[in-house]
Amino acid sequence: MIKVCKFGGTSMADANAIRQVKSIIDSDSSRKFIVVSAPGKRFKNDIKITDTLYRCYDEVVECGSCAKSFAIIRERFVEIVKDLGIDLDIESILDQTENQINEIKSAGFSASRGEYLSAIVVSAFLGVEFVDAAEIIRFDSHGKLNVDYTDDKVSSRLANSERAVIPGFYGKNFQGDIMTFSRGGSDITGSIIAHGVKADLYENWTDVSGFLVCDPRLVENPKVINQITYKEVRELSYMGASVLHAEAIAPVMRKKIPINIKNTFKPEDKGTMIVPNDQYKPDANDSVITGIAGKKDFTVLLIEKSMMNSEVGFIRRVLSVVEHYDICVEHLPSGIDTLSVVVESSQLKEGVLTDLVNEIRENVKPDYVHVIENISLIATVGHGMARRTGTAATLFTALANANINIKMIDQGSSELNIIIGVNNSDYEKCINAIYNAFIK
Ligand code: ASP
Repeated sequence: MIKVCKFGGTSMADANAIRQVKSIIDSDSSRKFIVVSAPGKRFKNDIKITDTLYRCYDEVVECGSCAKSFAIIRERFVEIVKDLGIDLDIESILDQTENQINEIKSAGFSASRGEYLSAIVVSAFLGVEFVDAAEIIRFDSHGKLNVDYTDDKVSSRLANSERAVIPGFYGKNFQGDIMTFSRGGSDITGSIIAHGVKADLYENWTDVSGFLVCDPRLVENPKVINQITYKEVRELSYMGASVLHAEAIAPVMRKKIPINIKNTFKPEDKGTMIVPNDQYKPDANDSVITGIAGKKDFTVLLIEKSMMNSEVGFIRRVLSVVEHYDICVEHLPSGIDTLSVVVESSQLKEGVLTDLVNEIRENVKPDYVHVIENISLIATVGHGMARRTGTAATLFTALANANINIKMIDQGSSELNIIIGVNNSDYEKCINAIYNAFIK
């Protein structure tokens, strides 16, 4: 049995948290490969090490030296090493890191040092080999992961390792430059390692006892999801659920390795199991929906033209205008004579919206283009929907009873997800209404 364990920023935040990590690792000999984040927040207004490292890079650009911000990094790591009582010359490692940040002048390199230092400290504390992610994770020149090369490297490098600690979040490109994934990317590293070593389980240790049905800032005490499929997590993470990086599913999915989201500070809690469809074990207490997630601030361009359906190439022409402005389309619900293009409002700044609408008017000669702004999208996700009737009825009745006007509806043909668009001002109310309608 091989388990890959990824520990997030709160699990690395101070010596006490790292001691807790050690007791988790020591309690199970199958926990062989340990991926770590940089130290995160210790309290509400604390600053993550990664944010301070991005600040270091800005300082190097502005004034040639990161001395001011690096002092914060230094203080944090010196304190952790001292509190843990490890025999490690952290001061020289920090001196070298500070010089490299000043010399290399790269945001990616600077940001990656939080995970690098974290892994060095944890490997010394556990007495386990340190394997640098730069050796095994490879990006191409566009910053995209080279999957095959990385897989080979991970499996050959770790094949003879009894146990190893690996920094998350970064790798190297073929030119030798350090590059990072997007924020929260240590989850992706963990998944890549799990795939490469053919793990039986990928444990993702964080500071909550699993995936919650919805955001606890919006609904009081939402339930924990015991079991969820890969696809459902993809949908929820994409729509803003923040427990796991949306790109962390793909690597383990290829080998059907389950992920267990666990709480470092309550290791006895079962957490959430994320599994492929065929490993999902139905339970009598399962609700028809698994989770609810949403995002604010979208704009809908509602394009209307009679006989649109019989006009060959209409949608293509609209989309090529949108593409011309380099805008990503989120959803594209359509009717007989209408097509709605839903995009994130942040892409439409500085006159782009007006130009885009004018160009659509010129290109496809619609009867109308209505612009609807300040829209929130809310996804109600559940693989159970496909087998049962009445899900949409329950959802829409709940919204009608809460007096919420639905501006847009989109249900994918996989019947995994119903997405609705409502005014931003109805966002919280809408999520509460859906939660209360489905979760007993
Ligand atoms: N430390 C990085 C971040 O704060 C990556 C991670 O923690 O996964 O985004």
